[in-house]
Amino acid sequence: MAEPVFCRICTPALYAPANLGAQELLVGGGRILAIGPDLATAAQALGARDIDAPGRVMPGLIDQHMHFIGGGDGDGPLARMPELSFTDIASAGITTAVGLLGSEVEAKNLNQLLRKANELDRLGLTTFIYTGSMQLPAPFLTSSIRSDIVLIDKVIGAKSAIAERIFPNLDFPALAALAGELLQAKANSGKASLLHLHVGRLKTGLEPLFELMEKLDFPASMAVPTHINRSPAVTPLFEHGIRLAKAGGTIDFTCCLGPLDNLPVGLDPVAAVKRALDAGVAIENITLSGDSGVAVPDGAGGMCAVAPSILFRDVRRLVHEGRLSWDMALLPTTVNPARVLGLSGRKGVIAAGADADLLFLDEDDRIAAVMAGGRFVHGQTNLNPYGEAAAGGGISIRPKQTP
Ligand SMILES: [Zn+2]
Repeated sequence: MAEPVFCRICTPALYAPANLGAQELLVGGGRILAIGPDLATAAQALGARDIDAPGRVMPGLIDQHMHFIGGGDGDGPLARMPELSFTDIASAGITTAVGLLGSEVEAKNLNQLLRKANELDRLGLTTFIYTGSMQLPAPFLTSSIRSDIVLIDKVIGAKSAIAERIFPNLDFPALAALAGELLQAKANSGKASLLHLHVGRLKTGLEPLFELMEKLDFPASMAVPTHINRSPAVTPLFEHGIRLAKAGGTIDFTCCLGPLDNLPVGLDPVAAVKRALDAGVAIENITLSGDSGVAVPDGAGGMCAVAPSILFRDVRRLVHEGRLSWDMALLPTTVNPARVLGLSGRKGVIAAGADADLLFLDEDDRIAAVMAGGRFVHGQTNLNPYGEAAAGGGISIRPKQTP
């Protein structure tokens, strides 16, 4: 794997994600050491290399819902998708990734998921997993959901499902027991101990979550329901999501759920963000995740895997089609998921002391290079962990200037 670089990065457009304009960054030891308009003297004294980044520089993205070991199993034997590769995730600009199980539990399990998260971590990404699965009682790795979170660093919360007909998670006592375990895990570990909820198409929508909040005082900050951009023609979920977000909760829209990916039962995620904003939801209460690794119709009668690149596709679309500013469009995949995952200040932000997870765009707002933990994981032929030719433009590294 590439060594971490010690460098001074110069960009005309730094998004932290707030728009800071022309800035320089000093990166060393995997972290951002300093930000300022002119760090030349410090960089020279420390022997840092200079990197020119002609396009925008922004935080590496966070995807809190990825099927590392492949999903799609619920759509039949021909929809079982392969594992995601490090290259696919890194080149998509995702530097922090959370993996989970899908509907299959016969041939896929949490051991495989944890091993895959460790592999991706070893190659340079920051990874976590959710324990549990869609069904209740939930599977776990050690002796309970609570123990998994308390004892295993990579376990950051639990997945479950509501409003889903293929898993009978409609029993309030079972969901309440899981919520109680998460509250205990949070108290014991100090981790986010999130309840990551797949929300299916049943008309009950978020009612089970509202019941948890009302009867158990379960904090809205500990739940992230996903797939909220289901079509209002199918379920009242979107309206429930607006209600939750206005009450301080965070709602997650799924990139592949929409007509663009041959799923007309979903609202296009860009339209969903705009619609939520128009309804009075603050952008801080919205996250976006790719659901990569699942299967969607390929438009020719078959199925194809959702690629991790779908996340940046929709961040870019929020700007180019949705007319949001970059600093606003970045929040649902940087600062907001960092907050819900308990990673604020370390992830999803460019600030002194934060991890050096950076996304470099070219002049067409396409991904040119990606740095994770101070290492180039994409776009630099000499620093790529596999030594492959870099896809796309890349950026130039100059040798240290001698006086
Ligand atoms: Zn999923």
